[in-house]
Amino acid sequence: MAKLYVCLELGGTHLRLGIVAEDFTLLRFEKLPTAILSEAEDKVACLAGLLQPLIDEAGRKNVVAVSLALASLMNRERSMVYSSPMVRGFDNIELKSLLQKKLGLPVYMEKDVNILLLYEIRKQSLPSQGIVAGIFLGTGLGNAFCIDGKVYQGFSGVACELGHIPVSGLHEPCGCGKEGCIELKACGSLLTKLAREFGCRVEELFVLHGLDAKLRDVICHFALAIATEVTILDPACVLLGGGVIHMPAFPLEDMLAQVRANVRTPYPRDTLRFEYASGDSMAGVVGAAIYAANR
Ligand SMILES: [Zn+2]
Repeated sequence: MAKLYVCLELGGTHLRLGIVAEDFTLLRFEKLPTAILSEAEDKVACLAGLLQPLIDEAGRKNVVAVSLALASLMNRERSMVYSSPMVRGFDNIELKSLLQKKLGLPVYMEKDVNILLLYEIRKQSLPSQGIVAGIFLGTGLGNAFCIDGKVYQGFSGVACELGHIPVSGLHEPCGCGKEGCIELKACGSLLTKLAREFGCRVEELFVLHGLDAKLRDVICHFALAIATEVTILDPACVLLGGGVIHMPAFPLEDMLAQVRANVRTPYPRDTLRFEYASGDSMAGVVGAAIYAANR
């Protein structure tokens, strides 16, 4: 009997689904718009409807677990979704038990950034001892870290909200419900907004306006967030991911120099090591299987 995982990654733009083998080979993969779920009245029935055909294809008796990587805040027990700022109406759902009942299989769920980090640690053979910190410069400012190979969830399950550390003197409201969070100064959605202001495509932003004070300010705040994490954790390695660092003319070296300038010397500055996420499209799906296997 094969041991298979049926996995789903829920992101702000795409839903990715797949069947993953015990050795974490991807056997089947598909990508759908997240709008399918945002527009569904009954979120649990919608997810079950997407997962069921994959369970049938894999053969129910072969499926060890269903595992979900979600762009959501969830409780410590990983049974309830509190909120999902990027998916309309996907809030306050006892997702684990409702899906288990509908599918008749064990269901695991975890924050997408934690799962992406697990995937990269395995794929790139990153250190399994000490801390690997993942910082994802995407639509938002995502963060996760693993200690000795295990994701750190925090006391109430909501650790690593690096994007929501406060910035002095900033009073804009943030999507999290507070005001003045560093993510307001350092994230992809701000870059999209600046591209509109400059009247250019977002891909052209650093090419055409990289030296503008507004963009320098974004890079400065990315660097401050990363330096804060490094200062607290002294990680064995920092994994940088997210679409922003791949934008044309993104000043990566400049940003890393600013990180180094903002951490203490000689350590952790001299031991600071950066690695880069693979950007694999199926990272969340395969990572969800790795997470389920660890559990
Ligand atoms: Zn916030």
